[in-house]
Amino acid sequence: MTRGLLTDDAQLGQPYWWDDATWVSLPDPPPAKVDLLIIGAGFTGLSAAIAAHDAGAKVAVIDAGQPGKGASTRNGGMTGAHPRNGWDDLNRDYGAQVADGLFAEAQKALDFALGLIDQENIECDLQATGRIQLAWTPAHLENQKKTAAHVQRFTPDGCKMIPRAGLGDHINTPQYHGGLYFPGHYALHPWKYHNGMLQAVLNRDIPVSSDCAAQSVARNGAGFVVKTDKGSIQADKIVLGTNGYTKGPFHWFTRRVFPLPSFIIATQQISPNLLGELAPGKRMMVETRARHSYFRLSPDGTRILFGGRASMVHLNPAQAAKRLHATMVEVWPQLADTKVTHAWSGNTGYTFSHMPNVGSHDGIHYSMGYSGSGTVMAPYLGMKAAYQALGDDRGQTFYSHTTLRRHWMHPGGQPHFLKAANMWYRTYVDRAENWAARRSRPDS
Ligand SMILES: Cc1cc2nc3c(=O)[nH]c(=O)nc-3n(C[C@H](O)[C@H](O)[C@H](O)COP(=O)(O)OP(=O)(O)OC[C@H]3O[C@@H](n4cnc5c(N)ncnc54)[C@H](O)[C@@H]3O)c2cc1C
Repeated sequence: MTRGLLTDDAQLGQPYWWDDATWVSLPDPPPAKVDLLIIGAGFTGLSAAIAAHDAGAKVAVIDAGQPGKGASTRNGGMTGAHPRNGWDDLNRDYGAQVADGLFAEAQKALDFALGLIDQENIECDLQATGRIQLAWTPAHLENQKKTAAHVQRFTPDGCKMIPRAGLGDHINTPQYHGGLYFPGHYALHPWKYHNGMLQAVLNRDIPVSSDCAAQSVARNGAGFVVKTDKGSIQADKIVLGTNGYTKGPFHWFTRRVFPLPSFIIATQQISPNLLGELAPGKRMMVETRARHSYFRLSPDGTRILFGGRASMVHLNPAQAAKRLHATMVEVWPQLADTKVTHAWSGNTGYTFSHMPNVGSHDGIHYSMGYSGSGTVMAPYLGMKAAYQALGDDRGQTFYSHTTLRRHWMHPGGQPHFLKAANMWYRTYVDRAENWAARRSRPDS
């Protein structure tokens, strides 16, 4: 049934980004003693390693699998840093000073990620595409106006409201009520970005060990002994950067940061004329609806990569492809016969506040909970976590004033509550949003 929308050689379960990937072999065990042990070798851990090493610490990095095969090489490559929550929500949760601080820190975080790419000469198909957030309902458009006013207080040119009549310069579809355009946001190729960071770590002679999960952590005087798949390590400090893939003895964290899957498809090549008609702005594009579709052109400008919340629980790639293709055709009916070459998923590390947090628990420093926005925030906050672990003032960030809350629905272990949440969203929230969107469209 689904096969019809897949090409004969479709890669199911494998990200488009991995087509030309060569994975670095890192079989060596970690050293027996370090100043700082970093657990997890995605964007968070690698950036933490660079910052700590350059501050003079003896560092090692371990990963339970192949570094990068968590979320960091599976994502959409959309690159910007404005907070996930609106200012009013942040003010309610943390007060006006922290809300302001989080909005002000967005540009610093983006500048940090761009600076890292520049400083380490990371060739990652970085493109200054801008990003447009597309309003699914009139109410979403009103919320965007409030967000725009707050963003502009700190970054006057940081964003611009686009009325419905102006959307045609960015995207050709009648589906949206307007949008919020961030001209300073970027697109990149996540595998190349991660691999560039990994090379920067290896060039510093920082040991990185793959297939080396942390199995237990015990106090040892002021430091720790960490038992791993490849032997024990004594570490004065630890930074945990395991986000939506956390496994092992980190139950405090898995109760607060849970794996929420996100899915992406890549289409077969599409004619330049049709692509120019569908997406004349060549922007990164995200929706405001709870289904949260996000889409872009591939770096070579020949395909659409279309991601979203096809489900909140595990779905096999063929089923995910079918759902995402259907959503894509809602946006662009012209793509009804366009086939899918890749369908894959990854875990975002989601929090009950939708915000990341940097801090320490029982002496373990951490940065996690990016809730689906980590291409900038993970390296930026990984760097902050490393500085905090070393007692360096450069670790200060308003993201230490957010919180990793617990929720009674999630006592720990597998996030079983997502089955109920999935049902609620599919049967109620999606329908209610679609009804609100349709009844106010001029063509309805
Ligand atoms: C499908 C998808 C699309 C996304 N799109 C975007 C996007 O367009 N823009 C954006 O900004 N963000 C996006 N994100 C989010 C972004 O990819 C993540 O926030 C970011 O990659 C998190 O990086 P990380 O280093 O914290 O975690 P990860 O890259 O997930 O790495 C965590 C690592 O920890 C390791 N680990 C776990 N437990 C242990 C242990 N006990 N011992 C040793 N190692 C361990 C894992 O093996 C893994 O390698 C997306 C995410 C997904 C899944």
